[in-house]
Amino acid sequence: MNKFYYTLVISVLIFSSCNTAETKTEEKVEKIIVSESVYSGENGLSPTVWYQTSAENKAIYLQTYLFAKLMLSENLKKKYKKPVAVVTDIDETVLDNSPYNARLAKTGKMYTNESWDAWVNTKKAEALPGAVDFFMFAKSKKVEVFYISNRTNNTLEATMENMQRLGFPNIDKKYFLLKTDKSDKTARRDSISKNYDIILFLGDNMTDFTEEFANRDTTDFGTAVVQKYKADIGTRFIVFPNPMYGEWEKAAFRNDYGKSDIEKQKALKSSIKDVY
Ligand SMILES: [Mg+2]
Repeated sequence: MNKFYYTLVISVLIFSSCNTAETKTEEKVEKIIVSESVYSGENGLSPTVWYQTSAENKAIYLQTYLFAKLMLSENLKKKYKKPVAVVTDIDETVLDNSPYNARLAKTGKMYTNESWDAWVNTKKAEALPGAVDFFMFAKSKKVEVFYISNRTNNTLEATMENMQRLGFPNIDKKYFLLKTDKSDKTARRDSISKNYDIILFLGDNMTDFTEEFANRDTTDFGTAVVQKYKADIGTRFIVFPNPMYGEWEKAAFRNDYGKSDIEKQKALKSSIKDVY
């Protein structure tokens, strides 16, 4: 349900109509239903349509993976002390989960861990354009590939089976660092850095690169942190689009998922400007 209905006004409407023999007056009480929009799964409708159907989205993935190849080749020209690796997120970076968001948008339901895991366990996610080709390219250049994802560890087997079907490299538990306790990926990144020089990170959420993008400033929504990492964006951090969900949405809720659905919708509206 996108709309929360409540009765604001009861108006009395008097209708007069003429019959052949008599004039009959009907009194009708009609509730005028006024709606106030609330945050729900239906909020994801337009973003999901864009993500799933637009040629633009497919082109952006191809373009970004092409750029990732160029930067990987460029970064490989430098000297490193350790073996080199790339670290990538999974969801909306290499796998397309828009069918899950389509289900939310169509039913108005909100994300839950249970429904998400159920989707993951179908193993029906498809590869995003350019993804398999890029990671095979990395492997061909002797760059190790690690997957850091906040999919829960109990979906590891399903995730690996899904990605094996699609032709991704390194389908082995030692290359998959899923979520065991916390969403913060820092410790998992650090564990790879002990043995590898990570020459490229790929993700659709800025927290795939640094935790400094978690709990963003509620006035600039992380813009200052983007400026701080300007030299890394595009050179070490390869960013993909995700208008369906992400840390950006949490920031728009002022980092409070506990808000009521009406308050969430108000927070979304108050996060954008129409200054003109
Ligand atoms: Mg992701």
